[in-house]
Amino acid sequence: MPSIRDAVVVGAGPNGLTAAVELARRGFEVELFEARDTVGGGARTEELTLPGFRHDPCSAIHPTGAGSPAFRAMPLARYGLEWLHPELPMAHPFPDGSAAVLARSVGETAASLGPRDAGAYRRLVRPYLDRWDTLAEDFFGYGSALNGRFPIDPVQLVRFGLTGLQPITWSRVRFRDEKARALLAGMAGHVIAPMNNPFMTAPALVFALAAHVVGWPVPRGGSQSISDALAGYLRALGGTIHTGTEVKRLDELPPARAYIFDTSPTALARIAGLGSTYDNVRYGASLFKIDYALDGPVPWTSPDAARAGTVHVGPTLDDIDTAMRDAVVRGRAPERPFLITAQPSLVDPTRAPEGKHVFWAYGHLPNGWEGDATEAVERQIERFAPGFRDRVLAKATAGPPQLAARNANYVGGDIACGSAAGLRLLIRPKLKRVPYETAHPSVFLCSSAAPPGPGVHGMAGHHAARAVWRRLRRAR
Ligand SMILES: Cc1cc2nc3c(=O)[nH]c(=O)nc-3n(C[C@H](O)[C@H](O)[C@H](O)COP(=O)(O)OP(=O)(O)OC[C@H]3O[C@@H](n4cnc5c(N)ncnc54)[C@H](O)[C@@H]3O)c2cc1C
Repeated sequence: MPSIRDAVVVGAGPNGLTAAVELARRGFEVELFEARDTVGGGARTEELTLPGFRHDPCSAIHPTGAGSPAFRAMPLARYGLEWLHPELPMAHPFPDGSAAVLARSVGETAASLGPRDAGAYRRLVRPYLDRWDTLAEDFFGYGSALNGRFPIDPVQLVRFGLTGLQPITWSRVRFRDEKARALLAGMAGHVIAPMNNPFMTAPALVFALAAHVVGWPVPRGGSQSISDALAGYLRALGGTIHTGTEVKRLDELPPARAYIFDTSPTALARIAGLGSTYDNVRYGASLFKIDYALDGPVPWTSPDAARAGTVHVGPTLDDIDTAMRDAVVRGRAPERPFLITAQPSLVDPTRAPEGKHVFWAYGHLPNGWEGDATEAVERQIERFAPGFRDRVLAKATAGPPQLAARNANYVGGDIACGSAAGLRLLIRPKLKRVPYETAHPSVFLCSSAAPPGPGVHGMAGHHAARAVWRRLRRAR
């Protein structure tokens, strides 16, 4: 008789690795299977362009990683994870060369928004600044409320929820000038939804608070360092990792008491034979991503953009909303995409040869869109960094089909593994008391398709491990 493992995990993204670690820490025997030749999922680093240029094909900047209650409870520094903080977490430049900035300090951020809005920004963030730990536990731990654990500070959570459920268009009322509105809209843009959707303020506010409390750091050596640290810790706890193994059917896996899937819900249903359970999951819009090897730093007109790890490009709330509506609602490529850009080598010299830089930029597109959006992306960068194209040594582009080919979880190029627009950020992949459990008593979902959704924070893995642990403990 083959021995029965306690848990088998499918997929070595941040959530699969976290689920595996959390179970191994509790003394369970864990085996993990990953389709690609290396672990990491959306947290990888590769030489995509030229030798010596180490790019992050997916995630690069980690406010939710640095603020993750799950990661903070693990000794990841011992396994090589070191956070590096750029001088400014984020800048949002304008055509006149000025910028709104998201700084570590609330004062510097407020000052960059102009005298008419500085006070309103302070009033927005102040109630939560000293309470990040409980807010992070309750916000990212939203899944645990579904999983049998009561919020730590329900009053604060309700207060945050009442502000957070407002659409970003509400900032037209709260703020008097365009800078503050654009700053908030850019952060909400990470959700990939129009600005009048409900619950858009919650992620924007979490990103702002994270900047003030934990920063928006990059890991030394690239996002792969997060995955390698998780994998190193898992091995030290006795877990086994198999790479280069795409799982197609449940009966290909070793016998186990629990199977935990860091996959899309659709793939889980197919592999575990769950029929049409997840047929109603809606996959969201996609992106066009470009990784650049540069001959020098990006020549931003705004001096603040030149010292920020992340730069949002899209001058007004209306511009950002139009780009989102094009990609998400109208099903067409935006003429002027809203860009999220990252410049990790500003703070990490290991990423590129001396004097050179890696830089990434992406704009949003409809799910499954085929074509080349390089011209639209570069035209937009050139508006704020004239001469940018002259610095490009090489580039690697990826639209929806290439993103889907990189990672089976990006269905149609949806990097969130299921739309996170509106209530879908909270209710995912479907309305269920414990969304990590499935119709099969031994099969669990741990990917970003489950709450609290996308981002490299491992929290869906953390909550899924808890659901598994409760089930196995009952069975024992
Ligand atoms: C371009 C881009 C930029 C991003 N930027 C950021 C950022 O800056 N900061 C941030 O926090 N987040 C960012 N994200 C989002 C973040 O990467 C994801 O939300 C996160 O990686 C989700 O983690 P996960 O473990 O749920 O899934 P994934 O990271 O997608 O991992 C899933 C893993 O499962 C494997 N797998 C799937 N199916 C199978 C199978 N059948 N058999 C075996 N293995 C399988 C896949 O190969 C993959 O390794 C970005 C994503 C993209 C694409």
